[in-house]
Amino acid sequence: MRRSFILWKGAAGGMEDLIRKQYKEMGIGEDVYSYGEAVCGLLSGRFAAIDSVAEYNQLKVLAAMQKNQVGEACLTGTTGYGYNDLGRDTLERAYADIFHTEDCLVRPQITCGTHALALALMSNLRPGDELLSPVGKPYDTLEEVIGIRPSRGSLAEYGITYRQVELKQDGSFDYEGIEEALNERTRLVTIQRSKGYQTRPTFSVAQIGELISFIKERRPDVICMVDNCYGEFVETIEPSDVGADMVVGSLIKNPGGGLAPIGGYIAGKRTCVENAAYRLTSPGLGKEVGASLGVLGQFYQGLFLAPTVTASALKGAVFAANLYENLGFAVIPNGWEDRHDIIQAVTFGTPEGVTSFCEGIQAAAPVDSHVTPEPWDMPGYDAPVIMAAGAFVSGSSIELSADGPIKPPFAVYFQGGLTWQHARFGIMKSLQFLLNKGVISGQELEKAKEKIRKTTK
Ligand SMILES: *Cc1c(COP(=O)(O)O)cnc(C)c1O
Repeated sequence: MRRSFILWKGAAGGMEDLIRKQYKEMGIGEDVYSYGEAVCGLLSGRFAAIDSVAEYNQLKVLAAMQKNQVGEACLTGTTGYGYNDLGRDTLERAYADIFHTEDCLVRPQITCGTHALALALMSNLRPGDELLSPVGKPYDTLEEVIGIRPSRGSLAEYGITYRQVELKQDGSFDYEGIEEALNERTRLVTIQRSKGYQTRPTFSVAQIGELISFIKERRPDVICMVDNCYGEFVETIEPSDVGADMVVGSLIKNPGGGLAPIGGYIAGKRTCVENAAYRLTSPGLGKEVGASLGVLGQFYQGLFLAPTVTASALKGAVFAANLYENLGFAVIPNGWEDRHDIIQAVTFGTPEGVTSFCEGIQAAAPVDSHVTPEPWDMPGYDAPVIMAAGAFVSGSSIELSADGPIKPPFAVYFQGGLTWQHARFGIMKSLQFLLNKGVISGQELEKAKEKIRKTTK
């Protein structure tokens, strides 16, 4: 992966100088640049594996598009009621084929990931039913959907109860606890694949499969739903390949490929997806209505790009993990673990670490690179949060973005990168900011570089 390995002999010297010069012009000093190069030198094997997964998933997406005969007429949308929307219906069939499910709902009327998850839950649960999370606390925004934090319109208001089984200390499933929690009212089990903004590990699809088998052996009639946010196309299989009845996600994360300007999906068993459609539109109408307006071209093209965009984000995450781990910071996942989502956490231990990192990411953005992010008191959080996002699609987190609450342990979570080259630049920029602000010293950087030099010898 080091430039001299991959470039043609002869051209290599000139090209390397050219790139180095461009980095320098964009504010990356020689020491940060050469450290970045050293870290990249460690990663060629990892990157090759990521590219192989992307290659497989690219073919999987392409096959689904070809099988369903995506044509030019699919790329323009409908208005009004949206009856007989060929592009919308074809896209939903393609998604169903990619996830190997009976049906799928993919709509711009699903406004975000939380909405998709709320829709899947509210449409498949009835008063008196119980919802179970066997993987501990769900994503923050779902607390209000479920009613863990009292909220208007929550499942709790409709008489749907909730139970949660914590993960064991080592992050594994508490099978005994789950067995006890399952009861005759349990109707739906929700499994969050990604750690989100917690410090537990993200589950592999295989692990999720084991959990679903355990539940189905005891209660074959229970619906198993997976919150698939940030997980799509990271592996060659999806949770629906290992028994999930529903997989749910956001199009401004992985499957939108950075191009979808809005949207969410619910793929799964026909009855589950139909229930969701009747709730999204209206009983009696279901999937038949819902104009796609002008977004189908972006939905299709984004889906087509999603496997390689996800790979770029993954490479950025692996690069950052190694870059900061070698400097002595705690990173989750660590530099060498297998990845099951695109989120990377780095613990800096100081507020300056968090803010400098985010300022660097912002300064590297294609949009709004000239603004300085500042911590603010966001609704729903108990500490100020700083966010870096310079995205084409507002709030899109498949684009390079970072956020961190200003409280111990002073960790940042970052994700995304539409291209590996941009993710790399952003991470190097974050390091440059940490260096400029004195969070990291020149000696520490030199020491980290030396460490790599020794291991690669
Ligand atoms: C992002 C995310 C959500 C919610 O998605 P939004 O689009 O932000 O509403 C839910 N669960 C997980 C694990 C996520 O990462």
